[in-house]
Amino acid sequence: MLYGNGYAGLVMSLVASSMLVYGFDTPEIADFKLYWWTAISLVIAVRFVDAIVWQKTVQFTDFDGCKAVYRFTFGTVLTALLWSAYCLFTFPFTNTIELAFNIIVVSAMAGGSATVLAAYKPGAMLYVFILLFPFSIALLLSAEFYEYVLGILGLSFCGIMLITSRKAADFTAQAITLKNENAVLVGHMEEEVDQRTAQIYELSNIDPLTGLYNRKAFLANLRKHIHHASEQKTFALLFIDLDGFKKINDTIGHETGDLVLKQTSERLQHNCPDQQLLCRWGGDEFLVGLDDANEASAVSLAKKLIHKISDAYVFENNRLTIGATIGIAFYPLHASDENTLIQLADTAMYYQKKLSPSTAGVFSADLGHQLSREQYLKDALFDAIEKQQLRLVFQPIVDSISHQPVAFEALLRWHLNGEDIPPYEFIKIAEQYGQIRRIGAWVLHEACLTAKGWQSQQQASVSVNVSVTQLQDPDFIDMVDDVIEQSQLNPSRLHIEITESVFAADKDILLNKIAHLQNRGIQVSIDDFGTEYSSLAVIQELGANIVKIDRSFISNIDTNGTPIISAVLEIAKAFGYAVVAEGIECKSQADKLEAMGVHYLQGFYFAKPMESEQLAQYMVNNLNSG
Ligand code: C2E
Ligand code: MG
Ligand code: MG
Repeated sequence: MLYGNGYAGLVMSLVASSMLVYGFDTPEIADFKLYWWTAISLVIAVRFVDAIVWQKTVQFTDFDGCKAVYRFTFGTVLTALLWSAYCLFTFPFTNTIELAFNIIVVSAMAGGSATVLAAYKPGAMLYVFILLFPFSIALLLSAEFYEYVLGILGLSFCGIMLITSRKAADFTAQAITLKNENAVLVGHMEEEVDQRTAQIYELSNIDPLTGLYNRKAFLANLRKHIHHASEQKTFALLFIDLDGFKKINDTIGHETGDLVLKQTSERLQHNCPDQQLLCRWGGDEFLVGLDDANEASAVSLAKKLIHKISDAYVFENNRLTIGATIGIAFYPLHASDENTLIQLADTAMYYQKKLSPSTAGVFSADLGHQLSREQYLKDALFDAIEKQQLRLVFQPIVDSISHQPVAFEALLRWHLNGEDIPPYEFIKIAEQYGQIRRIGAWVLHEACLTAKGWQSQQQASVSVNVSVTQLQDPDFIDMVDDVIEQSQLNPSRLHIEITESVFAADKDILLNKIAHLQNRGIQVSIDDFGTEYSSLAVIQELGANIVKIDRSFISNIDTNGTPIISAVLEIAKAFGYAVVAEGIECKSQADKLEAMGVHYLQGFYFAKPMESEQLAQYMVNNLNSG
């Protein structure tokens, strides 16, 4: 501040000194004036150079403030002393006008210094004092009255200016202190704001457990990558889902589960080329983004990651293993936005997991069609009952000797917008999306009501297919009871067909359900026998009433089907099961099976599944006559 404001004072000093020296002709002291002017000009010049040097070189360095202030003050005091000396020395020789000029000039300079020198109080006050006090005293001591008056005026002005300088200096010091405090405060605040910003970034972008990007941050980054990917470049997205993680979480505990997730994320980080695009999508799902990837490179990375994740995890003597299934989708081949890309990679993962867990699969157009078809059927199935799109058809199961129908299998049909959707397609979807319980209950209800209508003619049974998911429903037995009560069908005329796949489910629950059904007199058939996982030992344990040999063995009866059919018949005989052969399409098959001792036969050779009207006619033709 001192140096910055000092230029004005220096210029004024130079102008005023020149005017006084050269503006008044005082021959007696002409030499003195010349020396004095040379001296003050020199001082001013030195101070000027000092100010420039300070501003150009020292100002922005880490300089010693005190030294600079003392040097500056020395310059001002020297200037003041020169002025004071000038006034005192010239006083006896000046006329009234020159004297008045002198006192005006020093008073004006003292007045100006109050602000110009306000940055350093002692300097400012000393300057005023040196300029005015000695000269005022000299005037006071004069015998001339007007000089005496000027002395009093000078002294009073000196007093006032001393007070003013002090106040101005105090005010300036306060302002400087405040400014510095504010600067420190702002500095702190900036630091704190930076820290907070970093914390907020972490909280809102980083998954706290694994340190990987969370969903939000990953999506934002993925969007950027996709926008920056040029037309020739492709971008691969890997959707990773751990296999067997839930089991660890449920059996060993969440802490261990967390450790597994942490280590998995570390393995991903170490083995992915672009660590930037890695994310924990949620639970045990991770995403990896790969720039400039083709199918070969993406699949190769996926295989490497599966391999790394499948290495054992060792915690405090515990050795755990998990797997990972990976689905891959490409931008722009499969999707043009980040959300669809993730969804498609997820779909690829989902299908891959069903197909073969702990492997990698790439999304394909076929998979896409399958997905949209599945979505379409799933949505339509929701109100298929209300829209009366579902109906039952019935296929007879006949006695192998008399060929008389003893039961009718109820088979579900769905007519949707002019298309007949085959049961193998929609039953699976109904099971997957939790609609099979509602639909299964409707089937059972319809089948029992229909069978009740046959009663007057003959006591044929109705055989109803039931899915595993239906059986697992805790309310299943209650539902069956309700249906029997409402339809008033004799429970002994109801057969429940369960497919072999039930044996993959919890055995105890199944045994319990089967026992409950049999207690009511309902018969239980094992459907599609021989196609899935069951062993005859399990069938024995389940205590089913009927075994239905799958069509595949019947169609192979002339090649390798016979030994299996014979074996089933042997065991069935030993345990007292009835045996039904499914899918008989010709007389020779029927004859062979009859000769082998199969009890009941079912197939197109006898009758295809029939609509109600056909069924009525069939009954008239077959039951009444029998
Ligand atoms: P499934 O229970 O084994 O039913 C027998 C299937 O074989 C029926 O197919 C029937 O039309 C067919 N079939 C019968 N005889 C022959 C033959 O001689 N040759 C040939 N090629 N096929 C024959 P559909 O009606 O298409 O049913 C397929 C499967 O869908 C059923 O197999 C059953 O597992 C399931 N399903 C049908 N209705 C229902 C239902 O209401 N609930 C449940 N959960 N599943 C059902
Ligand atoms: Mg069946
Ligand atoms: Mg079957």
